[in-house]
Amino acid sequence: MRLSYADVVAKPPRPRPTSIESHRRFITNTSYVQNLEQCDTPININANEETEFPDKIKDGGLDLSVVVTGPDVPSPIVNFTDVDFSPTIIKNIRKAYVCPTPIQRHAIPVIMAGHDIMACAQTGSGKTAAFCFPIISGVLKEFRRVPERLEKVACPLALILSPTRELCCQIFEVSKNFCNQTGVKVAAAYGGEPKSLQLKSFESGVDILVATPGRLIDFCELSKVSLKMIKYMVIDEADLMLHMGFEPQIRKIVEHTEIPRVGRRQTMLFCATLPYKVQTLASAFLSDHVFISVGRGGSSTHLIIQELMLVEDNEKPQRLKELLDYPIANGNLGKTALVLIFVATKKGAYSLECWLNCNGFSAVSLHGDKCQMERERALASFKMGLTPILVATDLASRGLDVAGIAQVVNYDLPRDIDTYVQRIGRTGRAGKGGRATSFFTSKNLCLAKALSALLKECHQDAPNWLYKYAERYMCLNDHHLDFNKSLKIVMRYLVTLRN
Ligand code: AMP
Repeated sequence: MRLSYADVVAKPPRPRPTSIESHRRFITNTSYVQNLEQCDTPININANEETEFPDKIKDGGLDLSVVVTGPDVPSPIVNFTDVDFSPTIIKNIRKAYVCPTPIQRHAIPVIMAGHDIMACAQTGSGKTAAFCFPIISGVLKEFRRVPERLEKVACPLALILSPTRELCCQIFEVSKNFCNQTGVKVAAAYGGEPKSLQLKSFESGVDILVATPGRLIDFCELSKVSLKMIKYMVIDEADLMLHMGFEPQIRKIVEHTEIPRVGRRQTMLFCATLPYKVQTLASAFLSDHVFISVGRGGSSTHLIIQELMLVEDNEKPQRLKELLDYPIANGNLGKTALVLIFVATKKGAYSLECWLNCNGFSAVSLHGDKCQMERERALASFKMGLTPILVATDLASRGLDVAGIAQVVNYDLPRDIDTYVQRIGRTGRAGKGGRATSFFTSKNLCLAKALSALLKECHQDAPNWLYKYAERYMCLNDHHLDFNKSLKIVMRYLVTLRN
């Protein structure tokens, strides 16, 4: 029987194996149920001695469900002072933030209690600080135990792995700020910059190392970095790491370096979506971990106004021009509103940058064909508003935190909904509003169903044409399935004939 679009949307969730039931018992928001339904296999949780609590928190007026599962889970904090942070750390936090975000409320006490953790929270929710504060606090305590490390090679106590150079620099900057006057030293190791410069920065000591996997392995092999003292390890944006093909490098770091084994270090895995591969990684790298999920993993909040325009490929430049000519108010201290435009290819980024500049807009591009220095320069110029339009490939879709991005434009839509969610999450960060405009062409048919479901989930109206595309896609899919089924029957028949 073929289901209509309405049937599919209304279809009740499939029954799940018992290990996931414990999660669901406390789920109060259907969007989260949907997210779990998308997991191929149950999340690996510790069924014994579970402490679970439901939490419904308000994020900009939207109810977000929180699921916390695992052994001896401490209560969430309300203020940063509810945990044992040193006065200097509290002072540094107070300079930036007033109270913890939902992921921080739940993750900070769990990490402070020494648990391994797997945390899934939407993009821009404050994950960096959620792991940075407890790590800085832990490193400070470790100083008392191991006062001086005299090794010639850098022996950090904490390692934060990040998938991209840009994210690595961003985490480095954030953690350096929060380490101010604590004596904790932070260093960064990432590709694209001369090794000598980074090694020079290690000379004054490294307590927290923020690194991309490739450069870290290089330094370990050159005996410039030893991971034997690591007490804390974070794998940030774990889902993106796997998506970018970093699994062999991560396994090499965790299984073939001197890094203390599971249970002898505290491991934290942070992600925005929860694909099956991340769960496999979690079961291999974590011990008795606590699982935390805030909201629908990877979902954008309702604070981002999502707009879809049905266009032909050749209309895109003109439609973009109309969009950019229209002033956007962002209320950001009068600073020029920043616009981030996503394109599918490096070549596309370069040509659109040229086209925009020729048409009176000030744009710069960010893509993998640029060297690290050019990438950093482009990003800095965008952040400062010198070139308020950034044309980027998916290099910029994750983790990048640039204040004042008023609008994200999907000039070319991505192939999957997770990337769409990550891209639009570059605006509407930390509880602020934002706008995301996407150019939809007939080539984006496969995204129609997921897009309409996402808009529905965010209580936003989808255009009628999107539902039509969604239905067309499902029909095509059904035909495809029917064709595959018939093909299998014919093949089986041919095999029996041959036998
Ligand atoms: P992240 O998800 O770590 O990239 O953080 C997203 C944004 O939220 C950054 O601009 C942070 O500075 C901001 N942020 C993180 N924690 C807080 C907090 N407790 N209060 C206000 N803003 C925060």
